[in-house]
Amino acid sequence: MKSSPIFLFAFALAFQATAVAKPLNVLFIFADDHAYQAISAYGSNRNKTPNIDRLAEEGMIFHRAFVTNSICAPSRAVILTGKHSHLNGQLTNGMRFDGGQQTFPKLLQKSGYQTAMIGKWHLKSDPTGFDFWQVLQGQGPYYNPPMNTPDGVKRITGYTTDIITDITLDWLEKGRDKDKPFFIMSQHKAPHRNWQPGPKHLNKYDGIDLPEPETLRDDYNNRLSPAANQTMTITSHLSSNDLKLRAPGNLTPEQKAKWNAAYDPKNKAFEEAKLEGDELLKWKYQRYVKDYLRCIDSVDENIGRLLDYLDKSGLAENTIVIYSSDQGWYLGEHGWYDKRWMYEESFRTPLLARWPGVIEPGSENHDLVQNLDYAETFLDLCGVKRPKDMQGESIVPLLKGKKPKDWRESLYYHYYEFPGAHSVRRHYGVRTETHKLIHFYNLDGWELYDLEKDPNELNSVYGKPEYAALTKELKEELARLRKLYQVPEDTRPVSRQKKTKKNQKKK
Ligand code: CA
Repeated sequence: MKSSPIFLFAFALAFQATAVAKPLNVLFIFADDHAYQAISAYGSNRNKTPNIDRLAEEGMIFHRAFVTNSICAPSRAVILTGKHSHLNGQLTNGMRFDGGQQTFPKLLQKSGYQTAMIGKWHLKSDPTGFDFWQVLQGQGPYYNPPMNTPDGVKRITGYTTDIITDITLDWLEKGRDKDKPFFIMSQHKAPHRNWQPGPKHLNKYDGIDLPEPETLRDDYNNRLSPAANQTMTITSHLSSNDLKLRAPGNLTPEQKAKWNAAYDPKNKAFEEAKLEGDELLKWKYQRYVKDYLRCIDSVDENIGRLLDYLDKSGLAENTIVIYSSDQGWYLGEHGWYDKRWMYEESFRTPLLARWPGVIEPGSENHDLVQNLDYAETFLDLCGVKRPKDMQGESIVPLLKGKKPKDWRESLYYHYYEFPGAHSVRRHYGVRTETHKLIHFYNLDGWELYDLEKDPNELNSVYGKPEYAALTKELKEELARLRKLYQVPEDTRPVSRQKKTKKNQKKK
């Protein structure tokens, strides 16, 4: 029988519909502690990340992506659940994630997606909701990592950043059911402390001085006491384990002579010959940042391997690639390393996405988005209805260049881990496009930053008469957000709450 033109037209339409409806694959590449300042697409003046930059050139870069609680395990729990820490239960790093609760991978699995989780998990309990998982134990080492799997521990020889990519590629090529769409999380340990570079990059940046950030010598004036009283300065708190050396490198001839004369680890003079003051800070800064960036070089190179594979396998066209980190990081800003604060460098996180045919190549987004939105976004991308109890918003409209009229105008933040590593006081706060109000609630002290006039957050303007009206507005907005997100009044550990109640009864 000869096909009629009408039949051919109908067939073409049906074929087109099938092609459009083909479910999208998602490759989520995630780093640990990757500062946006260490990505050239974000304007780094210290390193180049050509493969991450490719995502910006071919996709979208988010300039205002933030987290809800700037620390490793809590951030991962927020991403899995789409809920703030006080609801998903993961307030601090020391806690164990309740894998029995609703997570987006479980919902994707139910709707026919194949899910895989490879690399750094860091939530103590085993991954749930994944068809395939192979994860580092806790923080995991930079070399020869033992990895947990449903079938027991596997030990693999090599550099962890390369290995995580090897396993990701292996699953994409041989492990998955090629008739089903996939969602894969490829999560690096790098560039987490203590920054051990891979063999290929050990000598990169040798013989050059990297630029220092403007605020490396912050004096912590004009703020409350917490900024000055932490334990995360490059000057005083990096250990010899972090620096992997005790001896200084770039010395003046006089310093070198003094050093050589004294060099004897058993000799007391050795201690006296150590660099001091600003010379010591400069040396430690270079040593620290170079090792950190060498770890990034490896991450970037491995992202290139994944992008190349997508191209070669023909998967690139129908796979969205998203890159992000569990939070931002201090590369010497305010004199610090580490994270935790609601100040910009740790509050923000990198976020880039490439979605061929949908995201306008080279587009830049300045809307307020948060890691609270990732679960809702992943579900939306995969055509799965988002549960009502998730607290974020899908950023899919933003990816399509269509900002919803009612998109949020403020963000809520809450950090809980005190007492704890690096001694950062508990705080919560609100950030709008232009201002940030922070409450250190155990001290009952406030800070307010005018981000347009003071982008480095060096001068709190809280209490200044000209900011009184704005402060009142921001406090109301903070109260609205705390109500919206169902934040309990008392977020101290339960044991401490009980003690207070007992004391009150005694009175
Ligand atoms: Ca982290």
